[in-house]
Amino acid sequence: MAKTIEEIREKLDSGDAIVLTAEELKTKLRDGEEVTLDDVDVVTCGTSGVMSGTTALFHIPVAQPGAFNKAKEVYINGIPAYPGPCPNELLGTVDVFLYGTNHSKSIDGYGGGFLLKDLIDGKEVDVKVIDIEDNEFTNKVTLDDMPTARLIGTRMAFKNYNSFTNPQKGSQKSIFDAIPMEGPYNSFTFSGCGEINPLANDPNQEVINEGTRVLVNGAEGTIIDNGTRSTPEKPNLLLTANIKEMNSYYVGGFKTGMGPEIFDSIAIPIPVLNEDILNNLKVTNKDIELPVCDIHGRHLPIDTVDYTVWENVDLRPTIEPDMCFNCIPCLPELYCPTNAYGKDKTIDMDLCFGCGNCSMVCPRGIPSINMGTISIESEGKTRKIPVTCRQSDKKRALKIAQELKEAIIDGTFKL
Ligand code: SF4
Ligand code: SF4
Repeated sequence: MAKTIEEIREKLDSGDAIVLTAEELKTKLRDGEEVTLDDVDVVTCGTSGVMSGTTALFHIPVAQPGAFNKAKEVYINGIPAYPGPCPNELLGTVDVFLYGTNHSKSIDGYGGGFLLKDLIDGKEVDVKVIDIEDNEFTNKVTLDDMPTARLIGTRMAFKNYNSFTNPQKGSQKSIFDAIPMEGPYNSFTFSGCGEINPLANDPNQEVINEGTRVLVNGAEGTIIDNGTRSTPEKPNLLLTANIKEMNSYYVGGFKTGMGPEIFDSIAIPIPVLNEDILNNLKVTNKDIELPVCDIHGRHLPIDTVDYTVWENVDLRPTIEPDMCFNCIPCLPELYCPTNAYGKDKTIDMDLCFGCGNCSMVCPRGIPSINMGTISIESEGKTRKIPVTCRQSDKKRALKIAQELKEAIIDGTFKL
């Protein structure tokens, strides 16, 4: 029988509600359990991946009031930020928008994603302002010094993604891989967390809508609207949350062939109000299409696979340093998108994203990870292609969905 949101809230308050993560629900379904409306009240879904639409709005103290009239250029750790929209005249402070995809002019391989992680970790950052009279002002600030620090995601948590291979000879740089993609058909990169992804579980947006409360990088946030380029077939979300309340584990930089990008992690609760919502929640990896496109044109699918790419694979690499050649340079260290791979041939698992690049580039297989293969039909042949890079992290997605479940049960997150 259908339930109302008030009934679910009452069950939560009395401790009688059944809250499952999407992963727990799918495991029940895979085990052949029949799940009815009586068996679940809320499902928490999660996703974590490179999300280029991430913007931060900062209000930053720079100098004494009156020290400069108006900022013309602003840099944070060398990353250009955009002053405005308020002119901030004679205040000594600036409002800026900083894109997660912007790159530092002073620190190699550093960009907006790395900066957000540093700020949330409490690190001090360098701010430089050039005013309209070409005077320069500098300051060192932490997140605590900023009265406002808010993330606005303009295009987040897509329901559907395209994946990519390189059908041509040679290699191709792109934002979809940290290393140039080798062809013909020697590399495959994809994004999206498949059956645990929020919009895959509510494809008609019956509950994920304007005003829905969500977790963004561990902070409670709100969906403002659907994101830019959102369509009913390919929805994504415009959302916001306070950066000061975020957990740095869930956000960071991700270096690609075209420079650093940013990753974020989002969890969304789905109250199971009726049979339609429950049926949509029963989606599994094999039901979710993953079109495979040519990295050169990007939009026309060559063939389609599905999100079973997440099944029977490792989420993190392991390391066998005994056989190491001690090459100079060490390629995993050079190409690790999140700087998790250390000089001492160890992996910082708090930074690791499970992308798999280290295993691809090391000639001795010192770091190793099973990421599986896909099989497509192209140019009249069956092509078996190794998965060489994942730009989504199922481990973080599982963790943030679990965190949301616990917060709903203990009452710190209200539906
Ligand atoms: S590339 Fe591989 S073998 Fe060479 S130093 Fe790095 S981990 Fe060792
Ligand atoms: S899987 Fe390897 S390359 Fe990717 S983030 Fe982890 S250590 Fe770095």
